Amino acid sequence: MTEAALMLGQLGEGAKLLAGGQSLIPLLKLRFASPEHLVDLNFIAGTSFIRERAGALRFGAMTRHAELENSPLAREIPMVHDCAAGIADVQIRNRGTIGGSLAEADPSGDWGNALLTLDTTVHCLGPKGARAIALKDFVKDAYTTALGHDELVSEVEVKIPPKGSGGAYLAFKRSAPVYPSASVAVQLTMAGDVCQEAAIALGCVGLTSIRASEAEDVLRGKVLSEINIATAAEAARAAGDPQPDMRGSAEYKRQLVVALVKRAIAIAVRRAHGEHVEGTHLYA
Ligand SMILES: Cc1cc2nc3c(=O)[nH]c(=O)nc-3n(C[C@H](O)[C@H](O)[C@H](O)COP(=O)(O)OP(=O)(O)OC[C@H]3O[C@@H](n4cnc5c(N)ncnc54)[C@H](O)[C@@H]3O)c2cc1C
Repeated sequence: MTEAALMLGQLGEGAKLLAGGQSLIPLLKLRFASPEHLVDLNFIAGTSFIRERAGALRFGAMTRHAELENSPLAREIPMVHDCAAGIADVQIRNRGTIGGSLAEADPSGDWGNALLTLDTTVHCLGPKGARAIALKDFVKDAYTTALGHDELVSEVEVKIPPKGSGGAYLAFKRSAPVYPSASVAVQLTMAGDVCQEAAIALGCVGLTSIRASEAEDVLRGKVLSEINIATAAEAARAAGDPQPDMRGSAEYKRQLVVALVKRAIAIAVRRAHGEHVEGTHLYA
C-alpha cells in the first residue's frame, strides 16, 4: 500500500486507484471518468483481512463485501454483517471492497451509512505518512472525502460496541442489483428497558449520510415505548432531505425512513438484549 501511495504521488492528479472496480469501471465505460493512469490495488498482498485487536475489528481496504458477509468474526458487530450481506448482488459483493466504497462516498452507498453509527476510523496512507480520520470527518460531501489526490484508504477500524449495545442496518431497495431507496442504521445501548445511548443514521436522503440527532435525543435516557419510538421516527423523517428520482418520490422516501427507523429500533433492542436476529436489506 505504501508503494501504491507513492505511485499516486508520482503520477499526479491524473492517476486513480482501482479496487473492486464496481463504481469506477461503470464510470470508465460511460466515459464519465478518463484517468491517465490506473494504480491497481488488486495484486498487493495483505490488503484484504478481518482482524480483531484491542476491542476493535480492523478491515483491510481491499476486503470484499462478500468476505465481510461470510466472516464469523465480522458478525461480532451485527450491523457489519447486515450491511455487507445486502449490498447489491453476489457478483458485486464478490468484487466490491469496503475501502473503495468509503472512498467513493456515494450518498446511496451502504458502508458510509451503517458505519456512521459506530465508532469508526478510516486509516489513510499518503506521502506524508499515515493518518487516522474519524468516519464523520472523512466524508465531506457527495462523492467527496478528506483524502488528498495522493492518499489512499489502507484500513477501516470499527470499535466493538459494549455489552448491552445492539444495532441494525436496514436498506429498502427495489431489487438486488440497485442502490437502496432509503437506508437506516440504528445502534442502541440498553439498560433493561431504558435506552442509555442512541445513534441513528439515514442514507439516500441527503448528499451525505445524516445523523438524526433529534431522533437520538428522543430515545436517549428513555424507556422505548411505542410513543417514544414513533416520535423518534418522525424526528428522523424531518432530518432527511430526499430528492425525487427513479427510486421514488421525496415523500415515499420520507415514509420509508419512518418505517425503517421503527423496524431497525426493534431489531437493535432485541440484539442489545442478547437475542440473535437476522435482519438485512428489504426488497419491494
Ligand atoms: C449495479 C451496481 C449496484 C450497486 N449497488 C450497491 C449498493 O446497493 N450498495 C452499495 O453500497 N454499493 C453498491 N454498489 C457499489 C459497490 O459497492 C462498489 O463496490 C463500491 O462502491 C466501490 O468499491 P470498489 O472496491 O468496487 O471500488 P472502485 O470502483 O474500484 O473504486 C471506487 C473509487 O474509490 C477509489 N478507491 C478505491 N479504493 C480506494 C482506496 N483503498 N483508497 C482510496 N481510494 C480508493 C477509486 O479510485 C475510485 O475513485 C453497486 C455497484 C454496481 C455496479
